[in-house]
Parts: sequence; structure tokens; C-alpha cells
Amino acid sequence: MVARVLVELKLQNTDKTFFYKIPSHLSIEVGMRVLVPFGKQELEGFVLEILEDKKDLELKNILKAVDDHAILNEELLKIGEYISKKTLCSLIQAYQTMLPSALKAKNNFMIPKKYVSYISLNMDYEKSLLECKNEKQREIIELVSKGEVLKKELISISESSVSTLLKKGILKEVKKEEYRFKKDVLESDSKPNLTLEQKNAIDVIEKGDCFHAYLLHGVTGSGKTEVYMRLIEGVLKKGKSAILLVPEISLTPQLTEKFLKRFGEKIAILHSGLSNGEKYDEWRKIERGEVSIVIGARSAIFAPLNNLGMIIIDEEHSTTYKQENTPKYHAIDIALFRGRENNIKVVLGSATPSIESYTKAKLGVYTLVEMKQRVNKTLPNITLVDMKEEIKNGNSILSSILKEKIESRIQKNEQVILLLNKRGYTRIVTCPSCGYQDKCPACDIPLTYHKTSNTMRCHYCGYGSKKKEVCPECGNTDFKEMGMGTEKLEEYVLKNISGAKVIRMDVDTTSKKGAHEKMIQSFERHEANILLGTQMIAKGLDFKDVTLVGVLNGDSTLNLPDFRSGERTYQLLSQVSGRSGRSDKIGEVIIQGFNMDHYSILYAKNHDYESFYKEEMRIRNILKYSPYYNLTLIKLKGNDMNELFKEGYKIVDFFKNKKLKDVYILGPSTSAIPKINHIFSIQILLKYKDTKEVYPILKEVKNLYLKNKIKLDIDMNPIQI
Ligand code: ADP
Ligand code: ZN
Repeated sequence: MVARVLVELKLQNTDKTFFYKIPSHLSIEVGMRVLVPFGKQELEGFVLEILEDKKDLELKNILKAVDDHAILNEELLKIGEYISKKTLCSLIQAYQTMLPSALKAKNNFMIPKKYVSYISLNMDYEKSLLECKNEKQREIIELVSKGEVLKKELISISESSVSTLLKKGILKEVKKEEYRFKKDVLESDSKPNLTLEQKNAIDVIEKGDCFHAYLLHGVTGSGKTEVYMRLIEGVLKKGKSAILLVPEISLTPQLTEKFLKRFGEKIAILHSGLSNGEKYDEWRKIERGEVSIVIGARSAIFAPLNNLGMIIIDEEHSTTYKQENTPKYHAIDIALFRGRENNIKVVLGSATPSIESYTKAKLGVYTLVEMKQRVNKTLPNITLVDMKEEIKNGNSILSSILKEKIESRIQKNEQVILLLNKRGYTRIVTCPSCGYQDKCPACDIPLTYHKTSNTMRCHYCGYGSKKKEVCPECGNTDFKEMGMGTEKLEEYVLKNISGAKVIRMDVDTTSKKGAHEKMIQSFERHEANILLGTQMIAKGLDFKDVTLVGVLNGDSTLNLPDFRSGERTYQLLSQVSGRSGRSDKIGEVIIQGFNMDHYSILYAKNHDYESFYKEEMRIRNILKYSPYYNLTLIKLKGNDMNELFKEGYKIVDFFKNKKLKDVYILGPSTSAIPKINHIFSIQILLKYKDTKEVYPILKEVKNLYLKNKIKLDIDMNPIQI
């Protein structure tokens, strides 16, 4: 027999498969990793196919099987093909991304399995007692007679007795694979009575069609987690398994804890904080069918569960579900693919669905399931504060109303969350006195400042204008970005608010493994009354005593030079507001900023997703953005800017010559980040209606650059531009 083997050739981005003979002493299956000779080297690869002998070919032998079973099962093999086709990457890139480090086809990267010895009785209990008179030996037999015992434990009683009994054949030793990642066993919780809306949501989904996707649009605090748990309970009852995706495990320790309490041992958690060995062990448990629920971030969508019964994606709008590097896959696409393959339901949940998903729900592609009320029936009241006025009164950091409200919460022993929305863009120029921003007249996104040419540029279409020295709105001559970090804010709060005890959460304070969890638990235990941080505190957290949320720079996400900046702003403000007043105490929210009359902020204030959606769609339609048009971003990277532009224009012409209808080509223009580490980057943006028409041309273009020193990168449906 011969095998067709896929190997990774680092210098080429194409897929090469080669035939090898399977020596008779090896048992090889499709999907296994094998070691093969390749020129002067030995490489690991995946077996894609096993065929009858090819008599006419001189073939080399496979050297050895890396594993004793297939790493890529039939479904994973298909998923890889799907990713390769959908995202225009090579097959080997797809498989390598799907697998945990320890299982990728890479040489010399082996995780040893960990074994532990157990001792059990090797004969009848009565008979074994007759065979030994020694007191210690009898004690050991007594222990073992009730079931197998860890060898380590028995040795601590008497090592010599254990070894004698083993030698005599009275006891036997069994080695078992041990898993490295140990989860705490938590006491099980009691199930709450479902609200009417929860009952209805579960009903609609359980009685609905398979394969089908459901968009669970439930406001913050409507109890989506409980819905997920009940749905999964139903899946397990049918003897099936489920995947739950969350944006990031370390940011949602409360959700994982709830699941551990409800489902205990049946869960595998794929956590980016695990070591390679721990990840491998979790994967093994899944493969062997020892767990029936997998919780994890994006890559957990590849969990090799057999008998999959449902896939749930929480916070479905989260950008973390799209991989930024090649292969640029989206977890929702993979979920839908697996849903179709397994004929099962896919549930997408969010309080702020992405515009694309909500559109699909409106069109009936997904079934829309709504939960409009909180479990406690009250959404927090949101107040907007215009900082232009506050600055006049000397309050540049906290408005007087926010300061007052924080103080009153501290006195009542309630808690506060303070979000410093920092994800602005440093090279965006904003007028500090009126909030004016220089925007592209054609694309309506903020222009970015280019220092070398002292110009403001649009990185979608390349439009450029001189940097303005005077604000055209108010005449102010001082254009600059107002910067403040979390550290400075913490200092300010401690100094100016009496009784403040602060936990600060940002990249600096959470770099250590487990830091997030510790901080969240500490806040839960009231060891602080203010949780202060960046975007990482905005989502998913559930503290019953938080009754005030304050947002600083609530408008700064509007500065993202991206057509989705309005959507991002609405999502962030709704999510963080949703942390306030989730239990029996009523919550409040204060949002500060300079541009408080933007529709995304006004609709977030009113908890009015529907109106926000309508306005956003109106603009997307006019400007030909997704979901009205499909977008593809082509990036060219290299060390000579002129050459990049020359190639860029060639590609643009290549497309133009095809004379496609309803295709718009923008660029080439410099990327949002024009230079990283001496490598320049330019981009071309395509807007089009018909993917079938554009796809083959993209493929052609990609092939032209396979061996070029200029790197070409294609992102179909980019999440950030
Ligand atoms: P969401 O994810 O929709 O924002 P959660 O699932 O975190 O909301 O639920 C909000 C809060 O309500 C949690 O503290 C949760 O324990 C509680 N909760 C959920 N369902 C119920 C219920 N049926 N009865 C009582 N409390 C509930
Ligand atoms: Zn433009």
C-alpha cells in the first residue's frame, strides 16, 4: 500500500503531497502523522489518502508513524479543506492552525504522555489472605480489596511489602494515562426557575429545525448563560456533546465556574493560559470521549468531539472570533460548517449582535430569538456627560456628577466599575475643545496623520489633505490627542475620592497566569470598591453589588479609522453599561466624552439596538459597506514603498481589465499601520456583490505572488480594515 502525505515546506505557500510506501510492519491510517524522508531531511506530515501500490513508481518508505491513531479525523480533514478554500490559504496551514501545538506536524515536538501506577488485587480476596501472614502485607491487601489504589499511597505504608506482593502475583500494577490540567471540583448549584423569556427561548430552539442557526438576542442580564446551560443539558440527555465558545476564557471566569458547578467532570476547558502539555491532555480527553462539553475561545471550534449535538457561540459579535493571521478564518463560519456536517443547531448569543448576524436573522437565514427583559426587570439608567463643559469648570478627568456618584456608592458599600476607553487611535487628530475630527469626504472615516508628509490621509481610498492648523468648527488652534493611562487614572481616583479601594485591570496588571481570575474573585469578595480598567472589564462580568458604571472617553472608539467604529462604540457602551445593577439593586451608568451626540452613543443610552441597527444600515448602504457589499482586503508588504505601489496599481489594473459589474476597487493606499519593523504595508479594498465572480480572480492574483519577495495577503470579509 502507498500513502499520500501532506508536508509543510516552509518556503512555499503551496500544498505539496508526496507518495510513500507503507512498510508492512507499520499500520497507517488516514489522518495520522508520519515521518517521511524528504531530500536529505526527515519531515513530519499528515496522511491524506491510502491507495493500492503504484507499481510504476520508485517510492521511498514511510519511516515511522508519529502517533498510534489518526490526529485528523474525517470531520477535521473536511474542515481543513473548507478553511483552505474559504480563506485562500494552503491546506497545511489550515491543519496546523486547527491542532494544538503538540499535535501539529512539526519535527521533534513531542509531549510525553504522563502515566500513573495503580495497584489492584490479582486474585480472590480470601485466597490472597491465605497466601500471606505478614501484618503490613495484610493491611495492604485489605486496602486494595475495596478497589484499585494509587501505588504512591501504598508505598508510603510499606514499599517492600508492595514489591513482595507484586512479585508473588497477589497484586497487579496498571499504568494509566494521567491528565495534567486539574480543575477544582465545585459544589453543584441549584437551578433557578426560568423566566418566561428564557423558557420561550429554549422552547423555540429545542423545537426548531436542524441544521439551523439561531440568533439569541438577549439584553445584558437577561440570563443567556442559564439558557445555554439548559440547552446543553438537553443535548447531554440525548447522549450527545456540545461546544461553547467564549471570546476569551480568562475574561470570563464566572461563566466557566457556573458550568463547572452545573456539569462537573464532563467539561474540558481549552484555555490559552494552559501549557502545551495541559492543552494536549484536554484534547486527548475530548478525543477519547471522556468529556461531553468543551468550553474555549476561538480555536475550541476545532475540538474533535464525536457525536456533536450543538454549538453555542457566546458574545457572537466579538472580534476575537476572527483569526487575524493566516488562515483568517471566522469561528462562526466553522460552526456553521460543522452544524451542516453534523445536522445540528448552532446558537449565536449576544446583547449586541454584529450588524451582519442581525441582518441574517432579519432575512430569516437565522431564526431570531429575543429576550428583551433583564431577569431583574430593570436596565440601568444611562446619563451622558459632555466633557467640553466640565473642562471649563476644571474637571478634566472625572465630571462632578461621576465623582459624586462614586462617593455615594462607596458610602453605601456598593461597588463601581470604571472603564477607561483607550482604544482610540493616536494618529487621529481631535479638537479638544469641540471634538471636531477630520474625516474622508468619500469614506466617512477619520483621516490618519502621516508625519513624514505632514498630511492627513484616508487609508481606504488614499485621499489626502494638509493637516489643519485651526479647527474649522470652533477656531481652536490646538489639535491634539488627549491621552491618559489607567495608571494615572488610578492615582487620580485614590487621591481625590475618599475611601476608594481600587483594583486596576489592564495589560500591565494581568500579564501573569491566573491574574484576571484572582482580581475578579477579589472584587467579588469586596476587597475593593472600584474595579478600574480597559476594555477587558467591559464584557461578561456579573457582580451583584455593582450599581454604578462610569465610562471615561466613551466616544474614543469612534476615532477608530474603520467603518465599523459606530458599531464598536455601540457594542462597548452597551456591554459595559450592562455590568450595572444586575441583581436586586438598581444600577446607573455615566458616560463621559466629547462627541456625545453621535447616534451610536445616543441609541446606547436608550438601550435601543433596533434604531441603532437601522441608522447603521442606512449609512452602510450609502457607503457600500458590509452587509450590503462583500469586502476583501488585499495587503502588500515589502521593504520598498515605491515598488509596493507599483505592484498595487498592477493588481488594481488586473481587476479593472476584467470589467466586472458592481465591483468597486479602492486604493492602493497606505495601510492603517503603514510600517511595522521596517516592513511597509499598502492595501487595496474591494467591494463587490458577487463572491463567485471575484473569488477566481483573487485566487489568480494570489498565485502570481507565491514566490515573489513582496508578500501578498488576502483577507476575505475583514473584521478590521
Ligand atoms: P447575560 O449573559 O444575559 O448578560 P447572565 O446569564 O449573566 O446574563 O445572567 C444575569 C444574572 O441573572 C446572573 O447573575 C444569573 O445568575 C441570574 N439569572 C439568570 N437566570 C435566572 C433566573 N431564571 N432566575 C434568577 N436569576 C437568574
Ligand atoms: Zn477615503
